[in-house]
Amino acid sequence: MIYHDKPPTLEDNRVDQPETYPSLRPPAAREINNRPVRRKAPASPPPCALLAKARNFKTANQLRALGLYPYFRTISSAQDTEVIIEGKKVLMLGSNSYLGLTNHPQIKAAAQAAVEKYGTGCAGSRFLNGTLDIHLELEAALAKLVNKEAVLLYSTGFQVNLGVISALVGKGEYVLGDKSDHASIVEGCLLSQGKFLRFAHKDMAALESRLRKIEPEAGKLIVVDGVFSMEGDIIPLPDLCRIAGEYGAAVMVDDAHAIGVLGKHGAGTASHFGLTDQVHLIMGTFSKSLASLGGFIGADAETIDFLKHHSRPLIFSASMSPANAAAVLAALRIMAEEPERSAQLWRNTRRMKQGLRDLGFDLGDSETPILPVYCRDLMVAFKVCKRLQEEGLFVNPVVSPAVAPGQELIRISLMATHTDAQVDFALDKLGKVGKELGLI
Ligand code: PMP
Repeated sequence: MIYHDKPPTLEDNRVDQPETYPSLRPPAAREINNRPVRRKAPASPPPCALLAKARNFKTANQLRALGLYPYFRTISSAQDTEVIIEGKKVLMLGSNSYLGLTNHPQIKAAAQAAVEKYGTGCAGSRFLNGTLDIHLELEAALAKLVNKEAVLLYSTGFQVNLGVISALVGKGEYVLGDKSDHASIVEGCLLSQGKFLRFAHKDMAALESRLRKIEPEAGKLIVVDGVFSMEGDIIPLPDLCRIAGEYGAAVMVDDAHAIGVLGKHGAGTASHFGLTDQVHLIMGTFSKSLASLGGFIGADAETIDFLKHHSRPLIFSASMSPANAAAVLAALRIMAEEPERSAQLWRNTRRMKQGLRDLGFDLGDSETPILPVYCRDLMVAFKVCKRLQEEGLFVNPVVSPAVAPGQELIRISLMATHTDAQVDFALDKLGKVGKELGLI
């Protein structure tokens, strides 16, 4: 029976090796009462063809067998410059918490106060019973930050891209995306009823050649990452906006990795280029600089009102939890009051980047705190990741489909709260492992 053949999981490992994987959870009630814990294997449903693909999926287990599986690593501490994994402290170089705010006492206190006032959830979507005054306060604060007439919150950044693109691009219309756009943009484009066209990464001539072939009167949306999430480079927005203007296309910029990092007061890519008035839609997430979970879209008031009544991932999904919304409001306040955080983030970035360059690593075209260390080989990327963790560094391996096959890399990302000593420690270990595995 295929269902009886359960492969070992990381959870199994943790139970088998309590001394190396100490659990912080309190013992289950039955263990407290000193009674043996006996769990009956769950009954198997009948076999079915559909799930054969799951039985045949071997890649993850092959990597586990080699000790190279790098995903779902379990952290048992706050997301900070150092985290605890398997009982060991490691330096975090793979976080999107660019401003280092995820463990900030004021933000945690704001989230706790919101739980006291509003409870733990909204029990409904924004459309019906799930709109709180705190959501409106956050929308107003974000509209001011990105300098747009109105803002609409979603429960995740992924949902913003799904919900906005699919609502705006209809039958007979076009959506154009950069080949390195984030997966959530791609999914939003595929979900739309329009035709999805892609152009080579940052290739404005390719974008223009696509636009030239489209009937001039058709609706067109260009969607790009402001800062590309894996490569760390920036979209050439001035050229893109000029071309969009010539062909009457709307522009949407995903600023997941630019809010808090680029632009005036961390307002993002359009602000960085002084082009806010040329960008129709600015998208951001709260899961990176803003220390929470959720996302937003900023645009003119009529477009936001249209989305409020047509965007299905907004209408048919529960609204952001009060604690998440309050955390973002507190993070925005700190971001405004402490511009030195962004300055320190950039200082750390320059120190790390220079150090990596001096060691001889290939960093591609990164212009931001996201530093890709190119391996251009799948197994080398996994090995580097494993060796670095053994040396006390957490980094993320990035492989296809997040990047094209052959472009595999180790993604290093800086936080404002990293110290010089931490950056230097990381450079030392990166140099050691880079030499060991032939990257430098
Ligand atoms: N856009 C980009 C560019 C991202 O990197 C991400 C998250 N990795 C998202 C959207 C989705 O955001 P969230 O994690 O808030 O769902």
